[in-house]
Amino acid sequence: MDEPENIKWHHSKVAKEQRRDLNNHKSAVVWFTGLSGSGKSTISVELEKELHQLGIRTYHLDGDNVRHGLNKDLGFGPDDRKENIRRIGEVSKLMVEAGLLTLAAFISPYCADRDEIRKMMENGEFIEVFVDASIETCKSRDPKGLYKKVRAGEITGFTGIDAPYEAPVNPEITVNTDQKSVEESVQTIMSYLKTKGYLIND
Ligand code: ADP
Repeated sequence: MDEPENIKWHHSKVAKEQRRDLNNHKSAVVWFTGLSGSGKSTISVELEKELHQLGIRTYHLDGDNVRHGLNKDLGFGPDDRKENIRRIGEVSKLMVEAGLLTLAAFISPYCADRDEIRKMMENGEFIEVFVDASIETCKSRDPKGLYKKVRAGEITGFTGIDAPYEAPVNPEITVNTDQKSVEESVQTIMSYLKTKGYLIND
């Protein structure tokens, strides 16, 4: 969509870099994608706790929470899922501008939608984490009872069952939660963030 003629972008007198300097760490979005029940929320909540303890300024965006507020007008058809992810991408971008290490946990089943968000950000600001678990594992965990509802025919268009999930082609990080504990997955991501210099600002 073109930018409307009468709406101008107002530039702040405090730049992203200055906010990063003040925080003493970089800002980016750690984007968790994977099937429902793969462990996105569990891992991101634990990761945020650990980052916070290290003095890193964070914010955790979660699929269900966003659908209670900002995106409560959206459903689960392909167009609404796309719009859901687009809005979350815009919110994530604002949070990265604000200097936060943002954690976003969303099924986000389509590669193209995730790639759009990557394109919105500067290089290195979008860290895609593929939370990989087999559909059998997810069904057996069923933390929200959703797979049970699918079996009972109460939900249709469910990712991994009768709606597609497109795994990332080249994610920055993959954690396989069939094999790794929550703590191991958290440490995998922590070590990526440390090695790549996200936890300092130089
Ligand atoms: P998602 O956000 O991907 O829908 P959740 O984090 O809400 O998934 O649920 C994952 C469930 O699986 C939680 O109940 C969690 O305790 C459980 N679980 C069991 N083993 C693991 C593991 N190795 N990694 C992540 N979650 C696990």
